[in-house]
Amino acid sequence: MHDVIIIGAGPAGLSTAFWCDELALDTLVLEQAEEIGGQLHRVYNPINNYLGLKAHNGEELLERFAADVDAAEFDLWTQANVSSVDLKARRILLASGEELQSIAIVIATGVRARDLGVPGEKEFAGKGMIESGTRDRELFAGQDVCVVGGGDAAVENALLLTEVCPTVTLVHRGKKLRARREFIEQLQSTHCITVFTESVVTRIIGDEQVEAVEIKRKHALKPFQLAVRGVLIRIGVEPNTDLFREQLETDERGYVVVNSQHETTVPMVFAVGDVSNPVAPTISSATGAGATAAKVIASRLTPR
Ligand SMILES: Cc1cc2nc3c(=O)[nH]c(=O)nc-3n(C[C@H](O)[C@H](O)[C@H](O)COP(=O)(O)OP(=O)(O)OC[C@H]3O[C@@H](n4cnc5c(N)ncnc54)[C@H](O)[C@@H]3O)c2cc1C
Repeated sequence: MHDVIIIGAGPAGLSTAFWCDELALDTLVLEQAEEIGGQLHRVYNPINNYLGLKAHNGEELLERFAADVDAAEFDLWTQANVSSVDLKARRILLASGEELQSIAIVIATGVRARDLGVPGEKEFAGKGMIESGTRDRELFAGQDVCVVGGGDAAVENALLLTEVCPTVTLVHRGKKLRARREFIEQLQSTHCITVFTESVVTRIIGDEQVEAVEIKRKHALKPFQLAVRGVLIRIGVEPNTDLFREQLETDERGYVVVNSQHETTVPMVFAVGDVSNPVAPTISSATGAGATAAKVIASRLTPR
C-alpha cells in the first residue's frame, strides 16, 4: 500500500512526486515509456517561458528535472504498462499481473498529438513525414513541403520551414486560421507560403518517400495533387484518458474535470498537467498543478 501512486512521469507527474517526497509521502510513479519526460522529448524549440531558467530545448530542461528526481526518494517504474485502474478502490493492475494499491491516485498522463487518419500517414513515417519544423528543417532544406493545421503550432512550424524551403503550403480545415495574431502577421508578409483554408489533406502519396499530397477543397468537385517532399501535421492534441474515461467526469473532448485543488469527481483521485488543462497546457502550469495536488493530498493524510 502506497500513500500516492502517480500515473505519468512528464513535468506534471514528476513535480507531484517531487513535492510528495518533500512532504514525506510514500510515493510510486508509473511511466509507460522507457524514459521519463513526456512531451519534453518533443520540444526542440528553446524554452524561454519557464520562470527562472532557460533551456535550449526540452531535453536540456529534462536534464535539470532529472537531477532533482535522482536526488529524491520516491519510487519510479518506467515501462510500467497499466492494464486497468479501479479509481474508486484506488487499485491498479499492471500488464505484468502485479496489483498495486494506494490511498491517493494522481493522473498525470498528458496528451498525445492527434493523427490525421489518412492513407500514407503511418506508412511514410520517417520517409517524408516531418516531426518538427525546428528539428527537421535542415533535412527538408530546398524541398517543397506541406503543413496541415491552422493553430499556433501549425503556423509557427510553417514559418520556420519557409526559412529553408522554396514553398510551404498550409492546409487548414476551417475558414480562418486560429493562430495568434503575431504569427498570422508574419505569415502574411511571407511570400513563399500558400494557404488553403476550408481544405483537407485526404491522402499522402509516394513510392519509397513522400512525393505528393492529395488536397480536397470544400467546394471543389474533385481533389487535386500537390507535389511535396515533406508533410508536417499539427492538428492539435487529445488527452490520454482512455484508461479512466468511464470512471470520472471528463469534458466533451475527454479532458479530466478537476476543481481548484486538482481533485477529480472521484474521492482521493487527482489530475494534474495537460490531461486536465486544455486552456493553458504549459510546463509551468503542469509543475504548479503537481505542487498543489501533493499539498492537498498531504493535508488529507496528515491528522490535524
Ligand atoms: C513541440 C512542443 C513545444 C512545446 N513548447 C513549450 C514551451 O516552450 N513552454 C511550455 O511551457 N510548454 C511547452 N510545451 C508543452 C509542454 O511540453 C507540456 O505542457 C508539458 O509537457 C505537460 O506535461 P504533463 O506532465 O502534463 O504531460 P506530458 O508531458 O504529456 O507527460 C505525460 C506522461 O504520461 C505518460 N503516460 C501516458 N499514459 C500513460 C499510462 N497509461 N501509463 C503510464 N504513463 C502514461 C506519458 O508517456 C508521458 O511521459 C510544448 C509541447 C510541445 C509538444
